[in-house]
Amino acid sequence: VWANVKAGPPDAILGITEKFKADQDPKKINLGVGAYRDGNGKPYVLPSVSKAEEILFKEKLDKEYLPITGLASFDKLATELAYGEDSAPIKENRLAVTQSLSGTGALRIGMEFIAEHYPNKSIYLPTPTWGNHNAIAKRAGLTAEKYRYFDPATVGLNFEALKEDIKAAPEGSVILLHACAHNPTGVDPTQEQWKELSQIFKEKKHFPFFDMAYQGFASGDPVRDAFAVRYFVEQGHQILLCQSFAKNLGLYGERVGTLSLVTASPEEKARVDSQIKLLVRPAYSNPPVHGARLVSTILSKPELKEQWLGEVKEMADRIIALREKLYNKLVELKTPGEWGHVKSQIGMFSFTGLKPEQVDQLAEKYHIYLTRDGRISMAGLNDNNIEYFAESVSKVVKG
Ligand code: PMP
Repeated sequence: VWANVKAGPPDAILGITEKFKADQDPKKINLGVGAYRDGNGKPYVLPSVSKAEEILFKEKLDKEYLPITGLASFDKLATELAYGEDSAPIKENRLAVTQSLSGTGALRIGMEFIAEHYPNKSIYLPTPTWGNHNAIAKRAGLTAEKYRYFDPATVGLNFEALKEDIKAAPEGSVILLHACAHNPTGVDPTQEQWKELSQIFKEKKHFPFFDMAYQGFASGDPVRDAFAVRYFVEQGHQILLCQSFAKNLGLYGERVGTLSLVTASPEEKARVDSQIKLLVRPAYSNPPVHGARLVSTILSKPELKEQWLGEVKEMADRIIALREKLYNKLVELKTPGEWGHVKSQIGMFSFTGLKPEQVDQLAEKYHIYLTRDGRISMAGLNDNNIEYFAESVSKVVKG
């Protein structure tokens, strides 16, 4: 039956994990996938999550279906974490929220909603961006357009080009913004630059489509990392937000997040809610219950929430310390080039500036795996492998 089905290309990021697994060398390092690792290179279950697991186990809850839009307490607490408890759309009951299959699911349903209900059928994505954004836009029926974001020369933000492109986009364009810890570059606008962007969005009547997959991972403080989202809302923008708990609570496989849209009134919210349900029901009926209960338990218990905030900070700080170490080591080894960006970039990734051929050499000669755009997941490094990594990079760059 499937004789004519052509083999598809492997996923750019998950394909790397496959190659890594097949490599038998004990020195091998996987810096491809964006998942946090502890100081021993092992997956990390947050102690606050383990505590919440124990609490839930004792409650002996049933496994009934959730409503289409998910667990109500989760939807409330999750969006309060993003928008702030005093956020006007929450207080005024005009935030439409649905629990999503993590960030990816929020993006998919969010883009489908745009495709169905917004006049423009295209979405502007930064260059570069998380590869899946393009694929999701296409599947949702949107045309992916580009705006400039990153300057390879400075390995930093090209703010002038970014503004130029956003100003040149037709009025009312949908523009995707990484709320913090931009993936893959680790380069974010400053708070002043966000304010300028908000002004341009107002003038151009653009629609801000926020993707926030790393709240807490940029600065170690979820409130600080929500600056752009909260500022845009305060300024009256009716944003759409995709929120993920994969990274900041380490709940990758639980698939827990939210999709939310700021609307103009409770009545408009109700209509938007009803249309979101019509997208979710035929896609997966209703979201999984366990992850939402975990998040809800942690965010509703002050002492557990406090503990979690400490753990997020610990993860972010470990990555910052690794950046410092990697930078020092690369400089010590007299690696040609300027490596300051390794320290200045934020979040889970560093966009090293390594060329695709150099990435290939790292895999072939040194058993080190990363995406061909030169992005490394910082958390894949630790005291046991960082020297070997820096030495290998240094050798490859020296040629
Ligand atoms: N957006 C961005 C920018 C991401 O980097 C990721 C995760 N790699 C996601 C969304 C979604 O991840 P998840 O579906 O696991 O929440």
